[in-house]
Amino acid sequence: MKVTDHISQAKDTLISFEVLPPLKGKGIEALYRHLDPLMEFQPSFINVTYHRSEHVFKKRADGSFEKVVVRKRPGTESICAAIMNKYNVDTVPHLICGGFSINETEDALINLRYLGIDNVLVLRGDAAKNETAFEPEPGGHKHASDLLKQVENLNAGIYLEDELKGTHKTEFCVGVAGYPEKHFEAPNMETDLRYLKQKVDLGADYIITQMFFDNAKFHAFVKSCREIGINVPIIPGLKPIYSKKQLTILPKTFHIDLPAELSNEVLRCKTDEDVEKVGAEWLLMQSRELKKAGVPVLHYYTLGRPLLVANVVKDI
Ligand code: FAD
Repeated sequence: MKVTDHISQAKDTLISFEVLPPLKGKGIEALYRHLDPLMEFQPSFINVTYHRSEHVFKKRADGSFEKVVVRKRPGTESICAAIMNKYNVDTVPHLICGGFSINETEDALINLRYLGIDNVLVLRGDAAKNETAFEPEPGGHKHASDLLKQVENLNAGIYLEDELKGTHKTEFCVGVAGYPEKHFEAPNMETDLRYLKQKVDLGADYIITQMFFDNAKFHAFVKSCREIGINVPIIPGLKPIYSKKQLTILPKTFHIDLPAELSNEVLRCKTDEDVEKVGAEWLLMQSRELKKAGVPVLHYYTLGRPLLVANVVKDI
């Protein structure tokens, strides 16, 4: 079922989760162990992130270095199908521009349809570890909006081989990313919102946001979106803080701010266990306020802390 159908049929705020594919070599049971405690909340859908290959330099026995390609977390599409099969829940695979030619993108989308997946979150992806800025594949997509056009084309039965006749029209429900604190490459919020509106005008069915720790920023973002005519559902993305290290890692990695009230409380903690308690309280406070404000879905980035998230969702 499509994310937008879940939202339109809901009587109350829905719950959804985001997970990562297991590290290569771990096996899917590691992911099931992560998901098991979350399933009692009957999530409407589960997002599975996509992780592109990286180039790394491996030292040879003679001391020289060899450039090799590694993919640490493969399997997004098949994990989505496995989750649907095991838990009977809808899934949303993330699909990125980086590392894909347009032909590979088309094949990936066809595979998703064969697997019975109705949703896709369309993203550009970040620069590869060895790049200073995002580089599309030769002939690949430069922006999420270009990838979105390809998905919308398939939804209209337009494949890359234009001589194909009587083609099947896919029916993907498409989500895109939004940034309450601005995407880090955008020169300003106004420009970023203009490109977000472009994605919606091209057919995006809903927006899911980057994590934020200050609900006021989310509400201001929603207001700005509505003012420029973005009328699709906007789903807040939420993440718990659980270690002191995150005070610097989260802003560095995700280009977001942490409110002083939260960072001060974390700094006062003696152990990471204490930080978990502060993080859980903060997440609960955010969740309750957003639910009261009538958000369609509370979407949790569960990364490594399913039990913490489960305890918060239980108390909402
Ligand atoms: P875009 O929409 O292409 O925007 C990127 C930048 O370009 C922005 O600054 C925007 O303002 C600008 N821009 C947009 N369109 C145009 C245009 N037509 N012309 C000029 N400028 C333009 N990354 C992964 O690799 N795997 C994942 O699974 C993943 N999941 C994510 C889930 C969520 C909810 C979010 C918020 C992010 C996720 N990311 C993931 C990270 C994401 O790929 C990065 O944030 C990336 O830098 C931008 O992706 P985007 O889809 O927002 O790009």
